[in-house]
Amino acid sequence: MKLFHTTLLTLFFSISLGYAQKHTNKALSEIDSKQHFYGDIAQSIWEYAEMGYLEEKSSALLQKTLKDEGFTIKTGIAGIPTAFIAEYNNGGPVIGILGEYDALPGLSQEAVPEKKSRGEKAGHACGHHLFGTASAATAIAVRNWLKENKVKGTIRFYGCPAEEGGSGKVYMVREGAFDDVDAVIHWHPSSVNAANAGAALANKSAKFRFYGVSAHAAAAPEKGRSALDAVEAMNYMVNMMREHVPSDSRIHYVITSGGKAPNVVPDFAEVYYYARHAKRDVVIDIFDRMVKAAEGAALGTGTTMEYEMIGGTHELLPNLTLQKLMYDNLVSVGGYTYTTEEKAFAEKIGKTLGIENVDYDAPHSIVPYQETGTPGGSTDVGDVSFAVPTVGMGAATWVPETPAHSWQAVAAGGMSIGKKGMMVAAKTMTLTAIDLFSSSETLKKAKKEFLEKRVPDFKYIPMLDERDPALDYRK
Ligand SMILES: [Zn+2]
Repeated sequence: MKLFHTTLLTLFFSISLGYAQKHTNKALSEIDSKQHFYGDIAQSIWEYAEMGYLEEKSSALLQKTLKDEGFTIKTGIAGIPTAFIAEYNNGGPVIGILGEYDALPGLSQEAVPEKKSRGEKAGHACGHHLFGTASAATAIAVRNWLKENKVKGTIRFYGCPAEEGGSGKVYMVREGAFDDVDAVIHWHPSSVNAANAGAALANKSAKFRFYGVSAHAAAAPEKGRSALDAVEAMNYMVNMMREHVPSDSRIHYVITSGGKAPNVVPDFAEVYYYARHAKRDVVIDIFDRMVKAAEGAALGTGTTMEYEMIGGTHELLPNLTLQKLMYDNLVSVGGYTYTTEEKAFAEKIGKTLGIENVDYDAPHSIVPYQETGTPGGSTDVGDVSFAVPTVGMGAATWVPETPAHSWQAVAAGGMSIGKKGMMVAAKTMTLTAIDLFSSSETLKKAKKEFLEKRVPDFKYIPMLDERDPALDYRK
């Protein structure tokens, strides 16, 4: 009887597993069959190369793609014209997929393996044309899976503008756009395939503006009050402060206006500051002390000061429950191999990177799983990760060893290598979303981990305060 029971159980599970497997495979082959369709969309966005908050055509194309598939579109999220949410609502848990589509100023480049600019235009040097497109492909594939399998679930594509310095997602989080979401999935173009726990620095950036009195610098200097003196006094104090902040803090500045001529006492000067650290609260403390230094500088130089918040993001809150799941899915999707033409292209790019022994087989493999990352830059995904359990990955859309924000990244993103990497991301995110819709236990576990890591008395503080979206920051 026991034997019979076990056999029956095994039979039952192999039937149901087989059923699930078949349907998951169908979702993957659906993505594969639309490779050219999605490749063309990514290529159009690569051509548009629109900068933060100016991504009108890119946003419209992704909206159209999702609308044509029956998604409901809501635009103007958080007062940002190019931000949107596309939703398929069938009750159940809500899973969000992030998509970005902004380009970087001055980085235009032809899709060739040598430096060849397209002039003063922007370029997709961070691969966000692939980012937005693969995420839209994921949302569509998951929607089809939900429908075919009659599963209760809501899939949402978040069209997130201005990641590069515009902190677009922070306004969306501040507005509560993620409040009812159970998990968020995202990815980023990369030179390798990896689904490790990421890390990012929290940051606050602001422009400090000083106003003085201009006068002839030789004939009547006593009548003048130098705004540049105030900038220098502030910088002096902040530079002394470096000794008295946690040693892994980062403080950087540029003087964006320092007067026009030495014989005129400058009546206006401006300095643009960033403060960063792996913990939000340390950044808040450093920034508040920077403001005090600015106030002191104004007081001591007889000038006045005001500052404008420009950007501000949280660090990344990793979720290992989701991360391990995504890693396993990435392994099962696997990497890809180059065609002869792609290999030749990659080798030419490789020669320009100044690195010996580039491993051109890297896109075929997956970087081994790691539970901790080293923070380098900052991302507005950080704020999302404090609002909802969030998981991300990277896919090899660039030739191995290529740094982000380089012409080499634009070049690979404009040809088939970028498109192949994008498919790896779309398939891995699709499997991850399907897993989450299939297991309320995993969602529960992820939520528990999220609440524990975020600490019980956590209060969200938007790092750019109450300011309106800086829609003109690239104009
Ligand atoms: Zn990016």
